[in-house]
Amino acid sequence: EMSRTPEAVREAERWTAHNYHPLPVVISSAEGAWVTDVDGRRYLDCLAGYSALNFGHRHPTLVAAAHAQLDRLTLTSRAFVHDQFADFCRELAQLCGKDLVLPMNTGAEAVETAIKVSRKWGYRVKGVPDGQATIVVADGNFHGRTTTIVSFSTDREARDDFGPYTPGFRIVPYGDLAALAEAVDETTVAVLLEPIQGEQGVVVPPPGYLPGVRRLCTERNVLFVADEIQSGLGRTGETFACDHEGVKPDMYVLGKALGGGIVPVSAVAADAEVLGVLRPGEHGSTFGGNPLACAVATEVVRLLATGEFQRRSAELGARLHAGLRGLVGEGLVAVRGRGLWAGVDIDPALMTGRQACERLAARGVLAKDTHGSTIRLAPPLVVEAHELDHVLEQLAAVLR
Ligand code: PLP
Repeated sequence: EMSRTPEAVREAERWTAHNYHPLPVVISSAEGAWVTDVDGRRYLDCLAGYSALNFGHRHPTLVAAAHAQLDRLTLTSRAFVHDQFADFCRELAQLCGKDLVLPMNTGAEAVETAIKVSRKWGYRVKGVPDGQATIVVADGNFHGRTTTIVSFSTDREARDDFGPYTPGFRIVPYGDLAALAEAVDETTVAVLLEPIQGEQGVVVPPPGYLPGVRRLCTERNVLFVADEIQSGLGRTGETFACDHEGVKPDMYVLGKALGGGIVPVSAVAADAEVLGVLRPGEHGSTFGGNPLACAVATEVVRLLATGEFQRRSAELGARLHAGLRGLVGEGLVAVRGRGLWAGVDIDPALMTGRQACERLAARGVLAKDTHGSTIRLAPPLVVEAHELDHVLEQLAAVLR
């Protein structure tokens, strides 16, 4: 029998810009932690849409909410209020312990929102002279792909040839409190950080770093903006990665899993003193907070409010990390992460991260490499213990 995969891959390549280098797997259906390709092969999804699929593919509650909403109302724009809006904003604000929410669509848009709100807060509340606001960010960050966001990327692939760049950002080493304290001055309106750096390879900062950032920001009257787009919403075994260190940022930036793997939904959440600086006409989005997005995302928030997914991530994450630690010295040189989220460095003498992912795919496990020799494992939080054991066996076999 002829495989349909090569032709489907060629055709996709033929008609798109080559801004991605996907594994040659053509997926046509999925359920829970599993996807099926056009040739009927099944794979355990250990990327989970870069954590947009924390609740698995087509979670029944989320699909039901989407179906019901499709039959009633899908889009109004924010020129009018719709009946799904308040529930979503209230329940997300309560999950975050914040007064207010501002919904957008993609992660990058939510980061842009956080930057604009921080700057306006700086001028109107903190009293920074007009046009002088600075935001401190970390080396190795990933916050999205807009021209402003790539302006403060330290990844040459992400940044080169896309200037002129937006000024007003200072870059400090991630995890280094002294460097951060040095970079903050009276023009600084925000410190924008990922509490765990996902795209960098699931880099967890040293213990005490996030509480130190919190203290510094409070002392210096600077907003602590936590980009929890990838780390938040259950991925690490807590609702937010900041929770592991008992830290409350001034602003959460959320996306990915907020849309339940069905619709793009992002948001920022903060108290009224911060988000309240925006007036009508100053920011917005045609699709942000649309009825379909709100209907799905409200159910996402309700799933998280049960605590079940955070618990699964913590318990199964311990199993995953124990298994991965057992492979250090057996083809892995390092393992990092929290909960059902791991970055593992493959011994570069053995193979590249890309090769490891190709061999895993051939064995029915989907994962994605980053920065040469690192691969990320982030299965949906509905994954079962025996399925994780299967992933660990396949990884061990690939490394052998
Ligand atoms: N911030 C973080 C921490 C991310 O991991 C990502 C996506 O990988 C983004 C922002 C950008 O999100 P989006 O691709 O939805 O614009």
